[in-house]
Amino acid sequence: TNTSPVLSTHDLSVAYGGIRAVKGVNLALYPGELVSLIGANGAGKTTTLKAICGLLAPQGGEVRLNGQPVHAQGPWDLVAQGLVMVPEGRGIFARMSIDENLRMGAYLRRDRDIETDIESVYARFPRLKERRKQLAGTLSGGEQQMLAMGRALLARPKVLLLDEPSMGLSPIMVDKIFEVVADVSAQGVTVLLVEQNAHRALEMAQRAYVMESGEITLQGAACDLLGDPQVQAAYLGA
Ligand code: ATP
Repeated sequence: TNTSPVLSTHDLSVAYGGIRAVKGVNLALYPGELVSLIGANGAGKTTTLKAICGLLAPQGGEVRLNGQPVHAQGPWDLVAQGLVMVPEGRGIFARMSIDENLRMGAYLRRDRDIETDIESVYARFPRLKERRKQLAGTLSGGEQQMLAMGRALLARPKVLLLDEPSMGLSPIMVDKIFEVVADVSAQGVTVLLVEQNAHRALEMAQRAYVMESGEITLQGAACDLLGDPQVQAAYLGA
């Protein structure tokens, strides 16, 4: 088809001082796709996400949102345009209530549907609703991940960047989180999912990229990568 990507990176490079963590990465996400980015610890996945959402300035190359370069725009400008990240470790505000955390997600919105959206997040996560007045720091890891996801949804994302949403969670919580990711994707949000859990990440996604030492070494349909002996040996414990 001739649809153009909603999000793309072009020869994207990022360095920490003299250390190049991301080296000429090209990614493309088409509208409504769920795309996974897998790779070992330290491969450069988090760095890639941070550069995409404006938290790190690239050393070279560029990021385009709806075909437009986003360089020199701060994360807040990108959030306002619908590019929202759920960071690794969740980044919730521990000393604010659950309700306040969710409202922070809607900080840049000017419309009047915020209350409706808060209620729909609570409908999705009843556990958060029960505890809406409690400090977010009192939540379990899985509940904090739900809160981080809920807060991101309050920004009405068009593109959602998820950094290791399943990390450190119990198997039941992992299921719940992936269920929400699938659901959000089914509603038409374009998702870039960074995951250590390569098996789940490939099962969920339509397409995937494999990153090694700052470079994309493999890419393709997620089902093909699931069946690829190289991927199985390196990432699927086969
Ligand atoms: P992980 O799953 O462990 O987060 P990752 O694939 O997300 O791995 P990155 O966190 O992007 O990898 O790290 C890529 C490389 O950059 C690693 O070699 C890491 O040590 C290095 N790095 C990451 N953050 C910094 C930093 N703030 N300063 C210097 N080097 C860094």
